[in-house]
Amino acid sequence: MDVIEDPALQDPALEVLGRVFGYDAFRGPQREVVDHVVAGGDALVLMPTGGGKSLCYQVPALLRDGVGVVVSPLIALMQDQVDTLRTLGVRAGFLNSSQDRSERRAVEEAFLAEELDLLYVAPESLGGGASPTARLLERGRIALFAIDEAHCVAQWGHDFRPDYLALSMLHERWPDVPRIALTATATRATHTEISTRLQLDDALHVVAGFDRPNIQYRIAPKNEPRKQLLDLLRTEHPGDAGIVYCLSRASVEKTAEFLVGQGIAALPYHAGLDQRTRALHQSRFLREDGLVMVATIAFGMGIDKPDVRFVAHLDLPKSVEGYYQETGRAGRDGLPSTAWLAYGLADVVQQRKMIDSSEGDAAHRRVLSAQLDAMLALCETVECRRVRLLAHFGQESSPCGNCDTCLNPPESWDATVPAQMLLSTVLRLQRERGQSFGAGQSIDILLGKRTDKVAQHAHDELTVFGIGTDLSEGQWRGVVRQLLAQGLLAVQGEYGTLALNEASGPVLRREREVLMRREPDRPVRAARARGAKAAVPELPASAAGAFERLRAWRAATAKEQGVPAYVVFHDATLRQIATDEPATLAALGTIGGVGATKLERFGQQVLDALHG
Ligand code: ADP
Ligand code: ZN
Repeated sequence: MDVIEDPALQDPALEVLGRVFGYDAFRGPQREVVDHVVAGGDALVLMPTGGGKSLCYQVPALLRDGVGVVVSPLIALMQDQVDTLRTLGVRAGFLNSSQDRSERRAVEEAFLAEELDLLYVAPESLGGGASPTARLLERGRIALFAIDEAHCVAQWGHDFRPDYLALSMLHERWPDVPRIALTATATRATHTEISTRLQLDDALHVVAGFDRPNIQYRIAPKNEPRKQLLDLLRTEHPGDAGIVYCLSRASVEKTAEFLVGQGIAALPYHAGLDQRTRALHQSRFLREDGLVMVATIAFGMGIDKPDVRFVAHLDLPKSVEGYYQETGRAGRDGLPSTAWLAYGLADVVQQRKMIDSSEGDAAHRRVLSAQLDAMLALCETVECRRVRLLAHFGQESSPCGNCDTCLNPPESWDATVPAQMLLSTVLRLQRERGQSFGAGQSIDILLGKRTDKVAQHAHDELTVFGIGTDLSEGQWRGVVRQLLAQGLLAVQGEYGTLALNEASGPVLRREREVLMRREPDRPVRAARARGAKAAVPELPASAAGAFERLRAWRAATAKEQGVPAYVVFHDATLRQIATDEPATLAALGTIGGVGATKLERFGQQVLDALHG
């Protein structure tokens, strides 16, 4: 008889991966990182959201002697992280300010007795080294330090936390304990800063591919944002969980109210809400199925809910990094998901204005301005969005087939003449009248509208009055927006009025052409590309009933255990079970996401729900 060799037997890392986490292979660079850290080396890991960073430190923590200490800024999420691990049979605990004395004591004792595999701590609790937590760590045995959300150490970044700076002391105090820093923030500047500040120059640096193939990127002109949003939610994502990002607290409130009025389960989240409301909304979003969170960017860091099906932006993000990070919260489970952004003229004006009036020196304003330009270039491109996005992170790729420009290629058109008309209107107002106005007035003049404001300033006497009737008002707004985006026109002052800049001259003098993106007539719908590149196949129709039964069982179980549904099983795992219909516990155990502990705890119930 042939002896079938089980490679896991000679490979402890693979054995842990299969037994504890229920997966049969490492993904991307996980293997390299795990081996390096198990052997005692330091690592700096840049991997997109959903790429599988957690396993990079969880597997080594289980393989090395002592307790893996995870530094995480996300106090509110520690409980869920620990619950997730415990459901897998991993011994995990946390220490943070939300605990009372006796809870704390119990965790401390477990740590000292090495009855924990992983211990989560907040960065501030390490406080330069003299804190109770730091003294506790001195008395125990540490397998490794994992520094999660490591970009928080970067001072120019928007998530900067001063407490992270003190983490350089880990290296000095525990020179023999390997450290692994992890982040989803990809820019070179952040990468370098993490490396320097945490003294990781000699560490293994791993940069994973940044593509998220299951996310469909779409950027639409903003006409009636609420109606467009509602359309997206109703036709493509009914009953799905998702995040809607707005720039201001007021628009968060109003948008959430609007959605609730339309019968959609939506909750607001922004820094102006009190701590309790924020925590409540966040935990409802994580625990309940199908909630829509309307939020400012204060919401989201470390939200590892795997089944966020869409991320919608009603306002323009300030940078490509921000856009990538926020949209990256969709589809961690690998299932098809949508990243949708609506953007219009007002966004460009507002953001340029905000930069001009921002505090800080000229160098800082230049950084902000360059970031906005890159974001605008992504919005106005006629190329594949993903190609542009990945290029921003230094990664080459070819057209993806799963973004709006690939699905419905926009034409570019020669807008040189309209551009000249618009610029010369601004020029005439400036030269002949010494005036400056917002975009609306120039457009009214070009369209030959005798509004009160036109009459009051006698703008109907300008030679450009009424010369632009070939284009509609909406098209003119598109022209202004794209001129601003291409840097051929500027905005200035408190009211964001239009002004010429150095780049306007050559256009006015007919020394250069202006090409613009023509907006497609029909909005792109996801249906045509859904699943095009999904990591997990669509559910066959015959399995739909079984999937629903499994979901109902999961909801009841999660409720009974007081944990989010995804802690019990991910959607992707339930789909696979519904599709494969395993008849025995052994067969169930071979499905991705079903490890030994979950098999033992839930296996029979799953089979009953499946065949019931
Ligand atoms: P990140 O922290 O990088 O955002 P996670 O660690 O939360 O990502 O992993 C994202 C998802 O991918 C999780 O659902 C996780 O279970 C799954 N995953 C990670 N590694 C593997 C693997 N080797 N095989 C299968 N699934 C994996
Ligand atoms: Zn594309």
